[in-house]
Amino acid sequence: MTAKARFPTRLVDKFGRVVSYVRISVTDRCDFRCVYCMDEDMTFLPRARILTLEELAFVGRAFSELGVRKIRITGGEPLVRNNVIKLFQDLGSLPGLEELVLTSNGSQLTKLAAPLRAAGVRRINISLDSLDPERFRRITRVGDLERVLAGIDAAQAAGFERIKLNTVILRNRNEDEVLPLVEFARERGLDLAFIEEMPLGVIGDHDRAEAYYSSDDIRADIERRYPLVPTTESTGGPSKYFRMPDSDVRIGFISPHSHNFCGDCNRVRLTAEGRLLLCLGQEHSVDLKHILRSHPGDMDRLKQAIVDSMDIKPHGHDFNLREQPLIFRHMSHTGG
Ligand code: SAM
Ligand code: SF4
Repeated sequence: MTAKARFPTRLVDKFGRVVSYVRISVTDRCDFRCVYCMDEDMTFLPRARILTLEELAFVGRAFSELGVRKIRITGGEPLVRNNVIKLFQDLGSLPGLEELVLTSNGSQLTKLAAPLRAAGVRRINISLDSLDPERFRRITRVGDLERVLAGIDAAQAAGFERIKLNTVILRNRNEDEVLPLVEFARERGLDLAFIEEMPLGVIGDHDRAEAYYSSDDIRADIERRYPLVPTTESTGGPSKYFRMPDSDVRIGFISPHSHNFCGDCNRVRLTAEGRLLLCLGQEHSVDLKHILRSHPGDMDRLKQAIVDSMDIKPHGHDFNLREQPLIFRHMSHTGG
């Protein structure tokens, strides 16, 4: 591209939805193998196929100059990527960005919570599906609960403005942990979001339709002890929030099956391979890595591709737990 192009200051799709939030997967690798996320035997991408930290920072800058206000770094487990703090530092200094956030399994936080906070991360999500060490190990296949709890302590000590726990509840695996997890969140002053399992990738471990435990089931479990009052609060994502009358803690529900959230979707995702996915539940995408590698440093070309991608953002997902997954990407590849 030669003449200086003029670009919009916000991204709007063909349904009028403003895209102000990007989730970036910085690696498909992980030190856990959660049963709903990965197969036991996973083949990970060779290093050359994933974006470099410099390429990731360049894409982050393009998005922020196009009006994106929030970037979430995710994966795989983002904190197992070498030197990832450098990326947080680069993104944390982008002038237009209002929020730089992270989703992590917590395993590396004893070491990295303080550097992340110093790089400008204000809020983090930590995944926690069980408070029982053996069961935690069964769900993550290899994870160590003590280490994650120590990571949560480190995050609290590092002074993040808000920490939210993410929990996937599966019938006959951990549905009896709803109330213990709510109690834990209340004691610690942490928000807690329950996510319905999504049919992404073949997992082999369980039948997803059989394991389905809906947000309404979870809500009913909680309301046996604590009445939940709906709030209109939003953290800019798909969670619908509730409060308990006697606590500051917010309880969120991410309910792709029971309460579809596509109508007000404000998000796109970048896979570790540099594919810009316009919807978690569809395959519409643009290969940004190709642009980055065939025209290195060409910011205008990259921005034009992002602006054009808005035309193919689909209206919504078609998740169906009773059929074989239509989406063969695992969540770890896509970036949850
Ligand atoms: N490794 C980090 C973690 O676990 O927080 C970040 C990536 S992980 C893919 C992000 C979130 O996606 C986690 O909270 C995880 O529980 C959730 N997740 C993974 N697979 C899922 C699935 N099939 N359906 C719903 N949520 C899923
Ligand atoms: Fe790893 Fe997160 Fe997937 Fe668990 S949910 S296997 S921690 S990427």
